[in-house]
Amino acid sequence: MSDDLIEVANFRDYISANVAKSKLESEGIHCVLFNDLLITWNWFYSNAFGGVRVMVGDVDAGKALAVLSSKPVELIHIDPEAFADEEVTCPECSCSNVHEERIPRRLFFLFALLWYASGFIASALGVWVTAIVIQGAVPVLFIIYLIHNRFNPVSICANCGHKW
Ligand SMILES: [Zn+2]
Repeated sequence: MSDDLIEVANFRDYISANVAKSKLESEGIHCVLFNDLLITWNWFYSNAFGGVRVMVGDVDAGKALAVLSSKPVELIHIDPEAFADEEVTCPECSCSNVHEERIPRRLFFLFALLWYASGFIASALGVWVTAIVIQGAVPVLFIIYLIHNRFNPVSICANCGHKW
């Protein structure tokens, strides 16, 4: 028996290597990572240095390989039947191809253009109070519109175009 370290796995990045390290340590196997800091800072050297190397003592190598090659335990069982009645369907045609209405791009650009142009228009006309009111009011109105849309989503059927 010696105290030599043996590489049991190597990974392109630090995060994957740390997942393996955590997996080994949860099984009581002490391990260290080689090149982890080097590759974290200079990720493009990963191939040149053989990746982040997961090293364990030669005594634990067999157990470590078994732990790393084992499939993860399924801790959460999701029953697809539990979500079956949550599927949204169109009240008109019962189609399930339904999506939420997003803010139209045209409306967003109209708001942005109005907001941006108001400064130029006001400076040309010399009506600064109006410009300040518009510059302040347009973003506030748009934020109110965004909040209203967030809490009152409108669904659209892709099949028949019905909105509700
Ligand atoms: Zn429909």
